[in-house]
Amino acid sequence: MIIKEDFCLTPFNTFGIEAIAYELSIINSIKNLQELFNAGLLKKKILILSKGSNILFTGNFEGLVLLNQIWGKEIVDEDDEFVYLKVNAGEFWPALVDFSVENGWGGLENMAEIPGKVGAAPIQNIGAYGSELKDVLISLKAFDMVEGRTVEFQNHECKFGYRTSIFKSKYKNRFFITSILIKLSKNPKLNLSYKPLADAFLNIDNESLTVKDVSKKVAEIRNSKLPHPDKLKNAGSFFKNPYVSEEQLNTLIGSYPDIPYYKINNDLFKIPAAWLIEKCNWKGKRIGNVGVHKNQALVIVKYDKATGHDILNLANSVKKSILTNFNIHLELEVNVV
Ligand SMILES: Cc1cc2nc3c(=O)[nH]c(=O)nc-3n(C[C@H](O)[C@H](O)[C@H](O)COP(=O)(O)OP(=O)(O)OC[C@H]3O[C@@H](n4cnc5c(N)ncnc54)[C@H](O)[C@@H]3O)c2cc1C
Repeated sequence: MIIKEDFCLTPFNTFGIEAIAYELSIINSIKNLQELFNAGLLKKKILILSKGSNILFTGNFEGLVLLNQIWGKEIVDEDDEFVYLKVNAGEFWPALVDFSVENGWGGLENMAEIPGKVGAAPIQNIGAYGSELKDVLISLKAFDMVEGRTVEFQNHECKFGYRTSIFKSKYKNRFFITSILIKLSKNPKLNLSYKPLADAFLNIDNESLTVKDVSKKVAEIRNSKLPHPDKLKNAGSFFKNPYVSEEQLNTLIGSYPDIPYYKINNDLFKIPAAWLIEKCNWKGKRIGNVGVHKNQALVIVKYDKATGHDILNLANSVKKSILTNFNIHLELEVNVV
């Protein structure tokens, strides 16, 4: 059990915010977590850090950071139709997607290039292009940092929702997710329900498409729209798409007949936050060294040296505009620390 002091977190968050962890421990195994628990160290203020692609540091972390590096994956079962894969938390998500599509297994192809680690994927039930983690996840294992033991959660127990799970609400900061068990199809049915993806394959016979074609196309579309954090610092979508009631939607349509929306159920509709932000003229706007990306209004970018507070101030100004103009509260997707 090695505890490093005053550890620089700048390379460990995709915003590249300068922050120090007072203490940091690299976690390679469940045994490491058990040792920390036995030594009473998990009673400290804890932050679990994976790839740092969904985190905004607003200062130094005055506690113990657990850096997730639990590598490894294995096929635990398979039959004619499915393969069951156990993947440890430290594996890089895009590498897992590549591995699955190289094998021709279906389920992850629409979620190509989400630049996080496997252990963080259940936290906000990652999703893209019409697919979500919850569609393939059977169960996960997590270390309970209060009771000092490993527990298993079945899919339904994770209470997955749009960019959320029980680990973002009731069990926030309690469990270190150590592995996931997913079920991938050997006879994939492609999901082209997301319009930009369907449009990209408009003139191609869908019967001839493979999961690899889909993941390549998703990567292509993403790269054309989203800034890569290596080139322009960001943490992906900063805001969640808000849900409104039918009554609220009708009021909005009265004022903005062109407002896009998607029906979730009879009384719930999702509005693209990017549209709201663009309508309030934030798209492409820069304030100091931070700004709203020119191609994707959901993404806040850091052009040069800036603090987490600079980013948060911009986000709050965007939120205020949306509230004033549309009476909608935008929620943050990024975890502010
Ligand atoms: C360019 C870009 C594009 C993106 N596109 C998408 C997208 O299409 N869809 C999408 O859903 N997200 C997207 N994201 C956001 C992000 O990549 C995902 O949310 C990813 O799952 C975060 O993984 P991470 O390893 O970086 O987690 P971190 O940022 O390190 O952590 C995120 C949160 O999870 C917690 N956490 C991390 N690991 C564990 C663990 N093992 N156990 C318990 N808690 C843990 C952390 O404490 C923190 O609260 C994008 C980000 C970027 C930069």
